[in-house]
Amino acid sequence: MTEPEVSYPLTVLRTAAELRAATQTYRDEGKLIGLVPTMGALHQGHLALVDRAARDCGLVIASLFVNPTQFGEGEDFDAYPRNEADDIAKFDAHGVDFVYAPDAAEIYPAGLATTVTVSGITEGLCGATRPGHFDGVTTVVSRLFEHCAPDVAYFGEKDYQQYKVVQRLVEQLGLDIRVVGITTVRERDGLALSSRNAYLNPGQRRAAPAMYGTMFALAGRLHDGVDIAAQCAWGAQALLDAGFDSVDYFEICDADTLIPATGNAPNLRILAAARLGKTRLIDNMPVDPPD
Ligand code: AMP
Repeated sequence: MTEPEVSYPLTVLRTAAELRAATQTYRDEGKLIGLVPTMGALHQGHLALVDRAARDCGLVIASLFVNPTQFGEGEDFDAYPRNEADDIAKFDAHGVDFVYAPDAAEIYPAGLATTVTVSGITEGLCGATRPGHFDGVTTVVSRLFEHCAPDVAYFGEKDYQQYKVVQRLVEQLGLDIRVVGITTVRERDGLALSSRNAYLNPGQRRAAPAMYGTMFALAGRLHDGVDIAAQCAWGAQALLDAGFDSVDYFEICDADTLIPATGNAPNLRILAAARLGKTRLIDNMPVDPPD
């Protein structure tokens, strides 16, 4: 049987120059331009960002680029799921106008010797266990901002540290871009949707929602005078008891600075990263303000 021909009513562009030319009329008309950066393997979490962009903006650009520089040595860059035709069909069904799917050479031309680094907020949590990861993120996001020139950019709270790092980048470079964070989309059992959930075997999949359940339980244990370090240790142990193989971190931090909390306070966030076999899952949750 021959494959059915796929037709894409939305436009797929591979270079910054093509994208600039294609979006110019919309800019001249003063349309608000929204950008949703993704690495593909789309699920409802990504599509929640796209839906919000389509609601807010007159023109939606979604990018599709598996960024090599944010993967460390031994991480899953080669194995990362890629299915461009499916992703484009999903973007189309959710109102994306332009898909920007550049080659690596368009983002990282030969000789490029500039890396964007945000310090401080990138050093703990995922920054501590994935050295160089956030330099890869901030560099690719800077390139995508330059190529797409959006008014608004949408990021998922699922990758909470990434969202806060990008907010910091935009503030500190004085970029005229509004960064909007979108609430995490979850499975019915609480597991945050992630492209990496596809790596889980059935036993690991059964254990995975414990990350949400443990954070939820912990949020209810925070009260004045609570020993934060003891609660985090309890959370990490609960993940191991549920079947996780190791815990990279289980922390309670200020939701804006991501500095670890020393006691109960307003505006805290619980953040965790742990491994089931080779699969590393991350999640986070706000803590209700103390009464
Ligand atoms: P990725 O393709 O993993 O780089 O993700 C692209 C964007 O989708 C990022 O801003 C992620 O934070 C966001 N995202 C991924 N999973 C979810 C989810 N379950 N809910 C909301 N946003 C998500």
